[in-house]
Amino acid sequence: MFNWLNVSMTRKISGLSFVLLSFLFVVIVYSAYQSQRIYKEMHEVAEIDVPLSEVMADIEMLQLKQHLLMESIRQQGDVFFSDQSLQEKSIEGFDRFSAQLAAQLDKSTEILRTGLGFGSIRIKLLDHRSLIQHINLLHQHRIKFDHLVDDFLKQGKQGFSTSWPMLELQDKGLDTQTDELLRKIDQLTINVSAAVESQERHFVVMNAVLGISAFGIGTYLTLYIIITFRKRIWSLRGQIESLHRSIVVEHDKASVNHKGLDELDELETDLKVLVRQFSKEMSNRHKVEAQLIELATRDKLTGAFNRHKWDELIKDELALANRGHHFSLILLDVDHFKKINDTYGHDVGDNVLKLLVNTLRKRLREIDVLFRVGGEEFAVLVKDTNLEGAGMLAEQLRKKVEALNENGMPPFTISLGVTDYQDSDDQSRIVKRADVLLYEAKGAGRNTVVIG
Ligand code: GH3
Ligand code: MG
Ligand code: MG
Repeated sequence: MFNWLNVSMTRKISGLSFVLLSFLFVVIVYSAYQSQRIYKEMHEVAEIDVPLSEVMADIEMLQLKQHLLMESIRQQGDVFFSDQSLQEKSIEGFDRFSAQLAAQLDKSTEILRTGLGFGSIRIKLLDHRSLIQHINLLHQHRIKFDHLVDDFLKQGKQGFSTSWPMLELQDKGLDTQTDELLRKIDQLTINVSAAVESQERHFVVMNAVLGISAFGIGTYLTLYIIITFRKRIWSLRGQIESLHRSIVVEHDKASVNHKGLDELDELETDLKVLVRQFSKEMSNRHKVEAQLIELATRDKLTGAFNRHKWDELIKDELALANRGHHFSLILLDVDHFKKINDTYGHDVGDNVLKLLVNTLRKRLREIDVLFRVGGEEFAVLVKDTNLEGAGMLAEQLRKKVEALNENGMPPFTISLGVTDYQDSDDQSRIVKRADVLLYEAKGAGRNTVVIG
């Protein structure tokens, strides 16, 4: 299942931004659509409402004129039929009323049809139908009224007693029907306006809901970004701080000035300080490491390589020799060293060992390696040298030591056993061979080189 919490921060932020932008997009599209719709509706209302109101006013005016005409005929009574011109004027008045009423009714039918033609939902089909029916009814009333007027006029004076009451009744009926139509039209225009108002209200509510949602998402997104960043940055700074504390010694601690910086700048500053401390620490560690290696591989008294290094390098040299690199080995030991110690003291003995190492070093090449393998016993790895060359070197070393005449130092000699690498030699074999030769040198009276 999709797990929102485990999604990366980039995806979370872009996801929320996408939702927010989608909301804003919907708000914009919805507003544009609704504005367009409302504009269209206003336009439609103007097309229906205004003409219908005009028609209503005209019909009311016609009714009034009709009443006046009827009233004047009623008041004139018998005189009406004796005055020809009065009769003609009244006939003309009735005809005009009928024609104008018919025209106004047709006009309202046309307006209603136009309203329906907009496809607008505001003029309901049923309302429309009932209005048209009502207009048709009025037409019929109007026609019947015309007939009654004709009857009345034909009958002359007698008409006042026979047709006039029916005419008045029909006039009242026409009035009632007209009032009813006006009321219905009025109601229709009220409905249309109410529908537009409700659309507008709906639009405002929807826009408010969408806007509030977008605002909510925007706020959430902003808070999320701020809180997450701050939390991560604090956590990172906490870790940097503890790392800092673990690598920096008290007197090295430098106060970092964060004044006027934002969180990211602070983090960057802390990281820079940490990296600086780290590189300082690393170089210190390298120095210490080198010192430790030195301590671990060198003999403290003489500075020659120790037994541990000897074991390591002889193995390497044997491996090289197996691949064709030749080397020789000299084992040497101070003669009667015990006697030197006993005669001059242990410190002088130590100095003799130091003097010996310095003397040997002076004569050895850079590539040759000197080891202290025992109390006063040393080994020399003579690289790329055959037995003859190593023998010559050993002889030179022996002579050099014998000839030493250092101030305050007792004279001493060394015995040397010299051998070279032979096929299928291992560490113990070559060492053993050199040891035997050294033993032979001792046996031969010391201060001697034995080669083999
Ligand atoms: P040889 O000619 O047969 O080698 O006789 P040697 O006396 O030199 O040999 P031996 O093995 O009898 O004595 C070695 C002495 O070296 C014994 C020991 O006290 C001494 N020695 C070993 N290491 C040191 C050291 O670091 N300093 C001093 N001053 N003496 C040491
Ligand atoms: Mg000795
Ligand atoms: Mg010895």
